[in-house]
Amino acid sequence: MKTFSLERQINMKKSVLINVSYIVEVEGENNEALNKLLDKITHSISENVTINSDVQLKWEGTSSVELDEKNVNCGRCSNCGGWVTDREKPNYIEGLCDGATHDGKLLCDECLPSDHRWAFSLWY
Ligand SMILES: [Zn+2]
Repeated sequence: MKTFSLERQINMKKSVLINVSYIVEVEGENNEALNKLLDKITHSISENVTINSDVQLKWEGTSSVELDEKNVNCGRCSNCGGWVTDREKPNYIEGLCDGATHDGKLLCDECLPSDHRWAFSLWY
């Protein structure tokens, strides 16, 4: 009975989705140039990755979103200037640094007071 249980644990597989985010700065308002650059970038990063003979990552998908502060839940941290999404407002962006509005200022998880719900913590 115990052997069966161990064997079952060894053969159990879990599927994990790993998201990796990049931010690219593009000069100008030319959408055609932006789209060409995004096509080139996404083509370059959308492939399988081999870590070693035991670990091979199968590419699953790539997406991008323009960080438009007026229309998307994002902005610059008032303290450090990094891009951040407000986790306490609707439509936060997965993959962007978590943050929240504190005393009227948008702050990233590293700049929020340590006792804030969205402050960076190693103890999730
Ligand atoms: Zn910050």
